[in-house]
Amino acid sequence: MTILSFDFLRPLLLLCVLFAVGGITAHQIVYSRSWHQPLDVVVYPINADKSIDTHNYINTLSSDTFTEINDWFTAEARRHKAAIPQPVHVSLGKRVKSVPPPLPVDQGVLRTIMWSLQLRYWVFRNTPDDDSNLRRVRVFVAYYQGDDDKPLAHSVGLQRGLIGVVNAFGHSEQTKQNNIVITHEILHTVGASDKYNFFGGPDFPHGYANPHRQPLHPQRYAEIMVGRIPTSPYSSYMATSLKSVRMNALTASEIAWYD
Ligand SMILES: [Zn+2]
Repeated sequence: MTILSFDFLRPLLLLCVLFAVGGITAHQIVYSRSWHQPLDVVVYPINADKSIDTHNYINTLSSDTFTEINDWFTAEARRHKAAIPQPVHVSLGKRVKSVPPPLPVDQGVLRTIMWSLQLRYWVFRNTPDDDSNLRRVRVFVAYYQGDDDKPLAHSVGLQRGLIGVVNAFGHSEQTKQNNIVITHEILHTVGASDKYNFFGGPDFPHGYANPHRQPLHPQRYAEIMVGRIPTSPYSSYMATSLKSVRMNALTASEIAWYD
C-alpha cells in the first residue's frame, strides 16, 4: 500500500523550496538594484529543438555577441545620469541540456506561483556552474529554428531569483533582435514592468521612448519594455536592433537609477 504518492509529495517539496528560496530572494533584490558595481548577467544557451542548425548557431555565440547589450546599458545610464557608468556585464555561459518548464497556458495566480517555483527548482538543478547567484542574473535562452508563421512562446524575466527565460530563433539574422529580448528580460529581473497597451502595442505615454516628442508620431525609438516603434496612435513596428531602442524615465525609475 502506498501512503505517500508523488501527487501528495509534490506540493510539500515545492513548499520546502519556497522557504529555502525566500531568504535568498530578499538578498538578490536588494543587491541587484543597488547599482554599486556592474550586474553580472550570464546567458546560458539551450538547443531547444535539438536540431543540428540550432547546435551550429549556438557554436557561433560568444560573449562578444552580447557586447551591444553592455554598450546599450552604458549609453542609457549616461543619458539618465545614473550613478553607475557600466550597469551590466553580460557573458556567455555553458550550454544547458534541458529545457525550462513551459509557462502555463492558463495563467491563474496559483498556477503561476507553482510554475515559478518549478522554474526556480529547474534553474537550481540546471545552472551549469557553481558561482554565487546573489548578484548575478541568469538568462536561459532556448533557441529554435521555428516555423516562419508560428510565434515562439513568450519570454519571461523574474525579479524573484534574478532569472530570465528567453525563447529565441537560432538564426544569425535574428541575433540583434534576440539581444533586444534579452535586454528586456534583464530589465524585468531588476524591477521594470511591461508597457504594452491592450492590443500589445506601445501604451501611451509609458510605452513611448519620448512621449514629449513634437510631433508625437512617428517616434524615432522603441521603449525597451515594449520593443515597438510607434508610427501612429494605432500602429507600430518591431525594432530590429538596440540601436533603435531606448529606456524612458519611468523604466529608469523602476530599476532604481534615480535617487
Ligand atoms: Zn516583458
